Amino acid sequence: MNNLYDSRDMPACVDDLGRRVYTSRLLGRDKSLVLHGGGNTSVKLAGKNAFGEDEEILYVKGSGWDLEKIEEGGFAPVRLEHLKRLALLPALSDPAMVNELVTHMTRASAPVPSVEAILHAILPYKYVDHTHADAVVTVTNSVAGEAGIREIYGDSVVVVPYVMPGFDLARLCAEQFARDAGPQTIGMVLLNHGIFSFGETAEESYGRMIDLVGRAEGYLKRKQAWDIGLAADRSPGAVAGLDLARLRKEISDVAGFPVLVARHADAQAMAFVRRDDLATVARQGPATPDHVIRTKRLPMLGRDVQAYATDYRAYFAAHEMLAKERKTMLDAAPRVVLDPQLGMCAVGRTAQDAAIVAEIYAHTMEIIARATALGGYRALPAQDIFDVEYWDLEQAKLRKGGKPPPFAGEVALVTGAASGIGKACVDALLARGAAVVGIDLNPAIGSLYQRPDFLGVACDVAAEDQLRSVLARAAETFGGLDMLVLNAGIFPGGCRIDALQTEDWRRVMRVNLDANLVLMREAHPFLKLAPRGGRVVVIGSKNVPAPGPGAAAYSASKAALNQLARVAALEWGGDNIRINSLHPNAVFDTGIWTDEVLASRARHYGLSVEAYKKNNILQTEVTSRDVAELAAEMCGALFAKTTGAQVPVDGGNDRVI
Ligand code: ZN
Repeated sequence: MNNLYDSRDMPACVDDLGRRVYTSRLLGRDKSLVLHGGGNTSVKLAGKNAFGEDEEILYVKGSGWDLEKIEEGGFAPVRLEHLKRLALLPALSDPAMVNELVTHMTRASAPVPSVEAILHAILPYKYVDHTHADAVVTVTNSVAGEAGIREIYGDSVVVVPYVMPGFDLARLCAEQFARDAGPQTIGMVLLNHGIFSFGETAEESYGRMIDLVGRAEGYLKRKQAWDIGLAADRSPGAVAGLDLARLRKEISDVAGFPVLVARHADAQAMAFVRRDDLATVARQGPATPDHVIRTKRLPMLGRDVQAYATDYRAYFAAHEMLAKERKTMLDAAPRVVLDPQLGMCAVGRTAQDAAIVAEIYAHTMEIIARATALGGYRALPAQDIFDVEYWDLEQAKLRKGGKPPPFAGEVALVTGAASGIGKACVDALLARGAAVVGIDLNPAIGSLYQRPDFLGVACDVAAEDQLRSVLARAAETFGGLDMLVLNAGIFPGGCRIDALQTEDWRRVMRVNLDANLVLMREAHPFLKLAPRGGRVVVIGSKNVPAPGPGAAAYSASKAALNQLARVAALEWGGDNIRINSLHPNAVFDTGIWTDEVLASRARHYGLSVEAYKKNNILQTEVTSRDVAELAAEMCGALFAKTTGAQVPVDGGNDRVI
């Protein structure tokens, strides 16, 4: 444990809330202390109300804020006196508690205060820091849990038995603290949950947290439970992309909506899933009976997998108010799937959610391994803690008006995605909540976007093996494929038939036609497993209904692709896959249309560039974005009952009409 406090980081003028922000961020930087919205901090400040009367305000971390990036506005100001009185009530339901917190803030626009706000209020210190530190949870979740904690800390901390987070826990802590705290007390350990430290200054409270957690780490090292060897066989198992797609389909069916599945087959995950005692350690049930971790037989995979289900039902049952608001979120789908072949698969409605689940579970695996080395891993009500962290995030989403975007949990693949219409399609699909795999010959595709819901792969669509490996990577990263946008194509320079060379003709056919046949064929089994049905969009061309001289190879390739799409619509309807085409024309905001080319073409027709761009019936300019928006809509609800259609997006063309 490193103490990162450096007084030089803080300008002299910084006030008490500013110091609170600074040390909160220090905690947030250490992922073994605080993960994704977990942990919370507070400071008690004197203020004046509208009548000029003195009142004490608790500034406590607001829901949806991450300590690592928290700002002053991320702390919710709640009247302290009111919180202290609440702590004396014999009982208070959690929805009522949340209501009391929100209605006793002094700033209407503040975030919802942390569900652990009352806990902060009852501790009689200016600064309070709370984390779910891995080292502390490892000790409390081992067989010798409480004894271990007492051995480490003696009487410097108050020890509180496990109670699910909420009002009851706050009340129990208040009682326990009043009974056991003395001048030597610098912290409080909540068994199977985490640790509090406190002090009169931000530096003191933070320093004590580092010291206390460091002592737990030292204990684990002394007990030879720190360095966990990895199993001998930790190479990732060979798993077919289609198996992952089948798994995703089954989980989505259980959830009631499409989810993403991200496979993690790193050394740590493989070592964990191949433990001899996996069934015992991963299935140790949390305290609440509905919170089951089950072994599920997935018939399509033909074997049992450990589906570690973070079942929200139990948690929501305790939070009726939320349950009412969030009925659609009540799902029994697993969040983590463990399997000796697969490794660890993280499940989420978005790529970001799946990444959070994976990171939290990576810490859980380490905790389990160390606690086992310490003498035995014990039941894991820490699951509740996971849910509380998640609950905070959900609260924040609710406040933002949390209806999921139309393609949440779905995966799209776009060819020719590095620029022009392809890139615009990537943008349109990401904006609708899909995870997107973009492929392109241009290696720049790899760094097009750095975000968890985008995977860019350099790939030659004319190479069958490369297409197959892209589909496998899509399955490893997101769990399958729901939408396919066939955009990649080449447009060679004009050439009349009497001069057209065989090899030039074949080259156009290879990219514009053959590659799409191969991709459609290889993608078909994945699209068939799409939870909401597969969709294919073909970016065709005006040249299909209205060819032009000098473009024989291009026009013929696009016309053949068009016919291929129509046959696919006939053949794949029974697999619940729909395929529609759109025919753009004169889209000038793409790479091939440089200013010079535009000017020269406009001159050729005796038009200004502006008039040339709008040379269509509606006299409007057609952009990549217009085409991409239509392509995305073709994957959505508007086209749910349409297949085999061809829609022009060309501003109106008299030869097409
Ligand atoms: Zn906590």
